[in-house]
Amino acid sequence: MSAGILSRLPLLAKWSGRMIQIKTAHEIELMRASGLVTAGAIAAVKAAVRPGVSTGELDAIAEDHIRSKGAVPNFLGYHGFTGTICASINDEIVHGIPNPDRRLAEGDNISIDCGAILQGWHSDSAVTVTVGDPSAEDAALMDVTERSMWAGLAKAVAGGRLTDISAAVEQTITAEQHPYGIVDHYGGHGIGTEMHQDPHVLNYGRPGRGPKLVPGLTLAIEPMVTVGDPATVELDDGWTVVTKDGSRAAHFEHTVAITPEGPWVLTAEDGGAAGLAPFGITPRG
Ligand code: MG
Ligand code: MG
Repeated sequence: MSAGILSRLPLLAKWSGRMIQIKTAHEIELMRASGLVTAGAIAAVKAAVRPGVSTGELDAIAEDHIRSKGAVPNFLGYHGFTGTICASINDEIVHGIPNPDRRLAEGDNISIDCGAILQGWHSDSAVTVTVGDPSAEDAALMDVTERSMWAGLAKAVAGGRLTDISAAVEQTITAEQHPYGIVDHYGGHGIGTEMHQDPHVLNYGRPGRGPKLVPGLTLAIEPMVTVGDPATVELDDGWTVVTKDGSRAAHFEHTVAITPEGPWVLTAEDGGAAGLAPFGITPRG
């Protein structure tokens, strides 16, 4: 680990009394390396999703992958969290705790949220998948959630404002005929030398507000969408967030850097090429 990186004071841009960490081009390269570790961990977990596997086993797969790359899980120990991944099933939206006794069944939806620290730099990403074939309702839920994330990522461009991202996420979801819920107590965030930094990124709102989007700003964009009402309850375990009405939820997340050349999706293997293509954006790979 380079002492130079850690001893360097991050460049901070002040907005509305909050300090937003702006990364150099070199630091974004380091975050890309971290992002690829997280991408690999999520891919490994996805490949292991099947009926009968426990969320504890999936957690071990993620941790092994991250450590094999010389990185450290950033969820593990975070405010006492005991997992490398958050494993949230069906009506669980986020922050499910991995458990060796919790086994997946055909038709379950599992959200896998995971992050890593490499050379001091954080990355954070999440995906929701079905065990086996999804129902039409589940497929539509996951599709709109993922598309809303990509719509937000496509707005991570210099010259815009933070809530351009929020509005793009919301508009994608509300354009659907089905009245999906947008979970509103949780959202995206700045990310860099800590997992959670300013600014908070709402998954709804009017465009054209908030901090200016500038090269070097890195954000985690993470819509959480429900089939039913978006009201949430936190379980007695102090972590797991579920829908109050028991309806299913989906959660997708990527870490993105705003660069002079456009959005660079640091936790996507292809840099976001496939997901950003419908928006006419070609990121660096
Ligand atoms: Mg996450
Ligand atoms: Mg996050």
